[in-house]
Amino acid sequence: MTKPSIAFLGLGIMGGGMAHRLLAAGFPLTVYNRNADKAKTLAAAGAKVAATPREAAAGADIIISMVADDGAARSVWLGDNGALAGAKAGAVVVDCSTVTPDWAKELSAAATKKNCPMLEAPVTGTKPHAAAGELVFLVGGEAEILDKVRPALAVMSKAILHVGPIGSGALVKLLNNFLCGVQAVSWAEALALIEKSGINKALAVDFLLQGNPGSPLVKTMNTRMTVRDYTPNFAMRLMAKDLGYSIAAAKQHGVELATVASALEVMKKAIAQDYGEKDFSSVVEILRK
Ligand code: NAP
Repeated sequence: MTKPSIAFLGLGIMGGGMAHRLLAAGFPLTVYNRNADKAKTLAAAGAKVAATPREAAAGADIIISMVADDGAARSVWLGDNGALAGAKAGAVVVDCSTVTPDWAKELSAAATKKNCPMLEAPVTGTKPHAAAGELVFLVGGEAEILDKVRPALAVMSKAILHVGPIGSGALVKLLNNFLCGVQAVSWAEALALIEKSGINKALAVDFLLQGNPGSPLVKTMNTRMTVRDYTPNFAMRLMAKDLGYSIAAAKQHGVELATVASALEVMKKAIAQDYGEKDFSSVVEILRK
């Protein structure tokens, strides 16, 4: 059976790895990235490169985006050069970016007007998981639509969770990220206090990591903060974006995220000190000063 053709929009840290997985699995692939340089390795591997999202989407059976935020998603999907302007009726629209539930619903409505069924499919996992096809998809939308794109999502993932209707995938993704963001800042504070107090660092860190505070995220953060290699797997500016989106989404349900607001303030300070493009684990450096 011939594989469905795919348009992939957004070739950053995550999108680049995901698109390579699709190409390696034999899906006919057309890619678009705002900065065309990032399409070069995919072009060399056999992908077609489009000059606009609209051009990329033309004729595709499935159109997937993986871009920074609501604004970036809006610019690749909507408008004269947006993917929806080029999409054929029946093409399945899949937004994998971490966005607000509101944007997911807005895109769904716009896609419906073009007779394109839509799924949100944000992911967990980071750069190495994208490259290895070991992401987890948190899908919102109808089960029958998911079945149509499942083979494509499968080559990028180790699990596909059908969360519920559009907006529910985005919300679970924001829950995941605010819990990670708060833990990262909390561990940065713990590490800075351990280091500045002069107590036995090896003993204290080992005790805490082996005990209840030693979540998988905290262990990863500790490794990166200890090695002090902040090559981005997940940029601080994107984690700060997710904390802001979480606060706004929770407010709509009457829930105040006070710990998230505190963590966001610390990350904003780090971003003001030029850590925005570095991995979010670098937040510890402003506390070490
Ligand atoms: P990234 O490396 O910064 O890539 C961002 C992508 O968005 C690039 O393709 C960028 O294009 C594009 N973009 C940004 N603003 C745009 C605009 N206004 N118009 C068109 N394109 C625009 O980020 P990433 O780490 O791959 O993250 C992508 C998404 O996945 C984000 O929503 C992030 O929150 C989410 N996510 C990331 C991770 C992670 O660990 N990195 C994990 C799970 C989910 P240019 O190259 O031209 O700038």
